[in-house]
Amino acid sequence: MAQIINGKAVSATVREELKAECERLQKEYGIRPGLAVIIVGDDPASKVYVNNKEKGCAEVGYYSEVYRLPAETTEEELLCLVEKLNNDDKIHGILCQLPLPKHLDETKVILAIDPKKDVDAFHPENVGKIMIGNYSFLPCTPAGVMKLIESTGTDITGKECVVIGRSNIVGKPQAMLLLQKNGTVTICHSRTKDLKEVTRRADILVVAIGKPDFVTGDMVKDGAVVIDVGMNRKADGKLTGDVDFASVEPKASFITPVPGGVGPMTITMLLQNTMTAAKNTLK
Ligand code: NAP
Repeated sequence: MAQIINGKAVSATVREELKAECERLQKEYGIRPGLAVIIVGDDPASKVYVNNKEKGCAEVGYYSEVYRLPAETTEEELLCLVEKLNNDDKIHGILCQLPLPKHLDETKVILAIDPKKDVDAFHPENVGKIMIGNYSFLPCTPAGVMKLIESTGTDITGKECVVIGRSNIVGKPQAMLLLQKNGTVTICHSRTKDLKEVTRRADILVVAIGKPDFVTGDMVKDGAVVIDVGMNRKADGKLTGDVDFASVEPKASFITPVPGGVGPMTITMLLQNTMTAAKNTLK
């Protein structure tokens, strides 16, 4: 039977540390970390994420600004706002909630954010820095996964690590972070032949595909650490992961639940990046 990795508890510990660090920064340097979040349109899921980011900032004592812009906002207006925030000393991190409405070019917006304030780590400069291992910010979800693996006491060095999914937001940076910790990393995707043969080799299996209950017990090695990044809504409205918890849990040594695993870590790592950005202004 697996031990359940409690993402809420790990997240709470990191937030406590950030809160203390925020107080210290204000006392010693007069700096309060500040995050600006931009949301365009009214996608319901995005609204929930943005509200949670605002709440997260309040919890750890950060300054925050939220720009809720109408769906018909023009690219020029959006880029103008990003430029204003790039030049605002109170703001250390800028995040534009994706996806944007179709008429807005996400790439242009990502490129417009000052890489020093790019707390999502989506700007190509920051992506490149992650590749060469000389980074300030780590992408939030993969960084959260690394914290969860760390919380199990697992030494990644030399372990067979398999990541299912190769998105720019999760799969690819996840593989890079595991590699930096000396894992032997394999990335799988929809064209992988005999997926089960690969996943059964994994000591550490990270699943990020967006297909409910896709990974079943027969795909998992005995004693594996299994991290489920998936967040899928079932017909009854309940949240479920990419891993079939019932059949995988008896085989794994550690496993993340959904909800309550990776999910709570993502915003916490965003807060961590905002702290880093604020501290970098002192250098
Ligand atoms: P994505 O951009 O849709 O990428 C999915 C990846 O899974 C692709 O690389 C795809 O392969 C691969 N894939 C799809 N079907 C597969 C199959 N049958 N076998 C093997 N690989 C397959 O998704 P994403 O943005 O990475 O997100 C993945 C999941 O994580 C989603 O459920 C999302 O909601 C969740 N998520 C959670 C958080 C969080 O905070 N917890 C954050 C981000 C994402 P191809 O490249 O070949 O198409």
